[in-house]
Amino acid sequence: MTQTRDSIRRHHFASDNYSGICPEAWQAMAEANANHVSSYGDDPWTQQAADLVRDLFEVECEVFFVFNGTSANALALAAMCQSYHSIICHELAHVETDECGAPEFFSNGSKLLLVPGDQGRIQPDAIKATVKKRNDIHYPKPRVLSITQATEMGSVYSVSQLQELFEMARRFDLRVHMDGARFANAVAALKVAPKEITWKVGVDVLCFGGTKNGMAVGEAIVFFKKDLAHEFAYRCKQAGQLASKMRFLAAPWVGMIKSGAWLRNAEHANAAAEKLELGLKSVPGVEFLAARQANSVFVRLPVPVAAELRERGWKFYTFIGAGGARFMCTWDTSDQDVEALIADVRDLMAGQ
Ligand SMILES: *Cc1c(COP(=O)(O)O)cnc(C)c1O
Repeated sequence: MTQTRDSIRRHHFASDNYSGICPEAWQAMAEANANHVSSYGDDPWTQQAADLVRDLFEVECEVFFVFNGTSANALALAAMCQSYHSIICHELAHVETDECGAPEFFSNGSKLLLVPGDQGRIQPDAIKATVKKRNDIHYPKPRVLSITQATEMGSVYSVSQLQELFEMARRFDLRVHMDGARFANAVAALKVAPKEITWKVGVDVLCFGGTKNGMAVGEAIVFFKKDLAHEFAYRCKQAGQLASKMRFLAAPWVGMIKSGAWLRNAEHANAAAEKLELGLKSVPGVEFLAARQANSVFVRLPVPVAAELRERGWKFYTFIGAGGARFMCTWDTSDQDVEALIADVRDLMAGQ
């Protein structure tokens, strides 16, 4: 039987959300499916998942489970500021480029103040410059620093970079939000305990990504500064983010934290990206746009090469981050996937 290209088993490099559900998350959902339990989060799975998140971070914190990263970021930021406040973030931050104004909408108008920065990272001086630019009543008052870890450019902030950044944030009385859609990849890259890059250095609220790490759906909002979670459950409900069958958002966290899959998956994705980076480095003419630390590789390819790669069935994004082609690896990216992509790039670059 002949197969069309699309029906051939293929893993893509467009995003880590192209992948399916990992076995540990799937298994936990199956277990959660075996019985009736109370709804709206008043169930043993949600309780256990929140406890496991607390264990993972080795601290008392408030934990909420929502459907996706946009709502996690937007609702967390809304809880951290008033409508007349502003949020300092990188110009490539997901909250700015990919959330359709949700942070502004849910905060009733808090303004995002964009700062540049190499490799998707914000520098301490940029915070200072932004806060100092204006301090009059006519400008929205800076209240939150939002950073992404791992960044949109596939880099990570080191522990000392975080320390310096948050020291500056504290100097100006800013609260700290971390978009951790790929938090696990950052932990895997840095080889540190989760607490070392969150509450211990001064993160107040973390949006901890589950979807891109191998779940069907779901992110955890982790309030290390617990008073910021005051009445947060109402905010989630009003925003349509309170799942009635909450156990299906919570159970995958139980499965993945208990088994360690949350970290294994990220380590796997990072290692696949490292292989891909190494392989592409051996292809003459491929230009790298970022230094890879987590699970994505950014390269500039000649337009016809990118077009022909798509023609051969590969999917990848060219509109994210600083442009160029972004190849994103995930928990089930295999060596064969990586080798096949490298082979196609090599083949097409040779014809240039
Ligand atoms: C994917 C992603 C999110 C979450 O996006 P949703 O599509 O809303 O789940 C948030 N931040 C970053 C940096 C992301 O890459």
